Amino acid sequence: MRRKLAAGNWKMNGLQANLSEVRTLNELAKDAQCDVLLCPPAPLIGAIAAEGGVVKAGAQDCHTAVSGAHTGEISAEMLADAGAKYVILGHSERRADMGETDTIVRDKTQAAWTAGLVAIVCVGETLDQREAANTLDIIGGQLAGSIPDGASGLNLVVAYEPVWAIGTGLTPTTDQIGEVHDFIRTRLERRFGTGVGRSTRILYGGSMNPKNVTEIAAVSNVDGGLVGGASLKAADFNVIVQAL
Ligand code: 13P
Repeated sequence: MRRKLAAGNWKMNGLQANLSEVRTLNELAKDAQCDVLLCPPAPLIGAIAAEGGVVKAGAQDCHTAVSGAHTGEISAEMLADAGAKYVILGHSERRADMGETDTIVRDKTQAAWTAGLVAIVCVGETLDQREAANTLDIIGGQLAGSIPDGASGLNLVVAYEPVWAIGTGLTPTTDQIGEVHDFIRTRLERRFGTGVGRSTRILYGGSMNPKNVTEIAAVSNVDGGLVGGASLKAADFNVIVQAL
């Protein structure tokens, strides 16, 4: 049985003052039945990890290299050293803003694994791609290109985030979500074997909120959520945690 994961992606939001939200969430969610994760901007990772409690800390990106002359970059080993347990990789905002390709995401995933982090690898189609009926081809290509050999079921989480659902208030129908999650499961089983494929968690992300979480979480092969806006306030995110 896969343990569900409620993962918050704070994106470029959060100051020291917002650590009070983490303390509140630790209190509200202390008896959570799922894993609880917050991925803040890098300067807050150490502080969130130091809080202890049920809320684990994660990062939003890492470099492919362990160390070296890469001004401004942060390695996976540094994130682990700061207390991170997970790292989000290949988020569509980074694919779009920073030109991250599947190959770069794959190399970052390998770096995350070498550092002992769980990689949350993001895939998802744009609206144009969905309207052209290319969704499964796009997702299949991203999965094949962004995940290295060596997935274990413990070191990988896949997040399905339709680009057009992120920050828009739009969500796919539950049938559309189920179709993609079932497809991802099948691809993982085919490539990595049924044991690994069945134990890898697949999250849904894109305008998940306290109102729609119960319906989305009931869809087959949805093992949790990757939540942006609704993860910033402890009270909102706790509703999602409790629903998972
Ligand atoms: P929203 O929940 O704000 O739509 O963001 C989703 C997301 O991109 C999480 O990584």
